[in-house]
Amino acid sequence: MSAAQIVVVEDEPAIRRGVVDALRASGYTVKEAADGGAGYDCSVQPGVCLVLLDLLLPVRDGLEVLEGIRKVRPTLPVIILTARGSEDDRVRGLKMGADDYVVKPFSARELLARVEAVLRRAADRPSDMARARFGRAVIDFQRREIRWSESERAELSDTETGILTFLIENRSRSVSREEILTRLWGIDPSGLETRTIDMHVARLRAKLRDPNGKSSAEAIVTVRAHGYMAGPDLKLDDSLRVQTAARRK
Ligand code: CA
Repeated sequence: MSAAQIVVVEDEPAIRRGVVDALRASGYTVKEAADGGAGYDCSVQPGVCLVLLDLLLPVRDGLEVLEGIRKVRPTLPVIILTARGSEDDRVRGLKMGADDYVVKPFSARELLARVEAVLRRAADRPSDMARARFGRAVIDFQRREIRWSESERAELSDTETGILTFLIENRSRSVSREEILTRLWGIDPSGLETRTIDMHVARLRAKLRDPNGKSSAEAIVTVRAHGYMAGPDLKLDDSLRVQTAARRK
């Protein structure tokens, strides 16, 4: 197990203790914070690879902390710890770029599965696929950004990079939300909300919209009653793929 440093932001002492103990027992290095102010300060330190973030927190609200983290570390994985029934907050969290969420009360086993899946995804950078193109935009998977011009760039989160990679790899067919969940989260999708995927796709689409409005082409097409498909204008940059493959030999 790697010594990945995880920050746990949770004001309920019993829950925080349980989460921290479960993570430490699995070999992770953990820092803990009991309010949003301290949580934000811990989360933006170097060496942090994942944040587990409660939403109802003293000092600074969890969503406010998430917003702050996204400004400084746009791709840092964040898992929201949420109470059952607070769907609005969960949806808002996903819209703001959280990578996943766990509903309280959760078991240590479930939490660790989510943590491992998110960390694996973060480490699983596309290696073969260096770049893709979408109209005049370059999608740079290594730098995880979309460049429309030198001054017009958008950063991609790990989750967004994963979804885009999966769609491009399978661009001859449509992929279901369940397939994306299984591939990216590495767990049985039954019982999971496929809306998670819709939120990430909505963010991706917004980032892939032509900032000058010169093109209205869709990078990701919705396939009714099934899922999503890479649009015809979303293309893998084959010249770069060949170069990368050649270098490895
Ligand atoms: Ca709380």
